[in-house]
Amino acid sequence: MTKSPMLTAQQALDHLLSHAKPVIESEIVPMQVALGRVLAESVNSLVDVPPLDNTSMDGYALRTADTQVSGSILKIAQRIPAGSVGVTLEPGTVARIFTGAPVPLGADAVVMQEDCAIPEGSTDQVQVNLVPTVGQWIRRQGEDLTAGKAALIAGTFLRPQELGVAASAGLTHLNVKRRVKVAAFFTGDELSLPGEPLKPGGIYNSNRDTLLACIQSLGCDATDFGIVPDSLNATRETLRKASKDHDLIITSGGVSVGEEDHIKPAVTAEGRLDLWQIAIKPGKPLAFGAVRKADGEAQAEAWFIGLPGNPVSSFVTFLLFVRPFILRLQGRDASLPQSYPMRADFDWLKADRRNEFLRVKINTQGGLDLFPNQSSGVLTSASWGDGLVDCPPGQAIKAGDMVRYIPFNALLA
Ligand code: AMP
Ligand code: MG
Repeated sequence: MTKSPMLTAQQALDHLLSHAKPVIESEIVPMQVALGRVLAESVNSLVDVPPLDNTSMDGYALRTADTQVSGSILKIAQRIPAGSVGVTLEPGTVARIFTGAPVPLGADAVVMQEDCAIPEGSTDQVQVNLVPTVGQWIRRQGEDLTAGKAALIAGTFLRPQELGVAASAGLTHLNVKRRVKVAAFFTGDELSLPGEPLKPGGIYNSNRDTLLACIQSLGCDATDFGIVPDSLNATRETLRKASKDHDLIITSGGVSVGEEDHIKPAVTAEGRLDLWQIAIKPGKPLAFGAVRKADGEAQAEAWFIGLPGNPVSSFVTFLLFVRPFILRLQGRDASLPQSYPMRADFDWLKADRRNEFLRVKINTQGGLDLFPNQSSGVLTSASWGDGLVDCPPGQAIKAGDMVRYIPFNALLA
């Protein structure tokens, strides 16, 4: 039997992404429920932000022509708190001004109150104890956002700070892509749900909670189709149900080619499937294909990605392959996540032929510690860790080497 060549992680990802097309439908939602959504169309600011030149300090607005020497004494001619607008500043005068208040016409700098003194016995004069530079402590009109110009661009994933930008632009609602709908089910006769008794030789279904939470953390709707026994018919039937109203079906387990692995024949019968061997560890086998939908749906098929069953393998392959695929469906940038050069404070001497993703944690010395048990069944490695080291094939790591670190939190949003 000839073995098909293994794909690299990048080849597998390129292949996946060449198929995924962004969902088209969008909806207009109030900003308060737009967190985690993807902007469907760019939006322009309704206003200049700031609306006028304003001061970023409590102090005095003045004309720098009047303060060419330190110690100049000037008349306080007006008082401008935030929320009110002053009048044109006459030469030789200053305006008492407070953070956020518009700088009056004629003024070209603000001096902090800490740099001023009130001459003894005076009530309407100030002594400026430095020589201010033009423009100091002034926030310029429109330096943040400009009326009529883009505030946010289509494809932006809406985090708290984007919602704040939209609000400062004067917007109340945003046009966002509809949520991507992902169905998930979990194969294995050995699986029980927490809360149920374990079968002899059984284990709890941990992939359900890990993978549904991964799906939700990307801002998708997740539907759980439960545990599916290791049988061809049960797998086919669940595929048919899960294809309805979903963009993507994710499964765990059953993607090897053993007698108890039914994903390949089931998806092939209900659609089409490629079974890939990817040269990564954990998570070698991955299945990619599509399941035909019943007539009457806008799309003819739901995408299918079958992950391996081992808990770390399914988690890591979700992050490396399913996440970018979902990002592309959402209309977001789907490139491989950024990795950062970090110092390994561990040895990993048994270099593997495959590209390994090691569970690690940043230590207080700014290096990386390795979880001692890197088995693909030991999920506590991922909960102990805060990220992965992307270790190229055939490369051993010695303490002190620089390695490529990918934080989990960059992979879960
Ligand atoms: P499989 O990919 O089906 O051959 O499963 C590989 C390993 O992962 C086996 O030890 C399974 O018992 C385990 N496994 C499969 N599915 C799950 C799951 N949903 N939760 C926890 N472990 C699982
Ligand atoms: Mg199985």
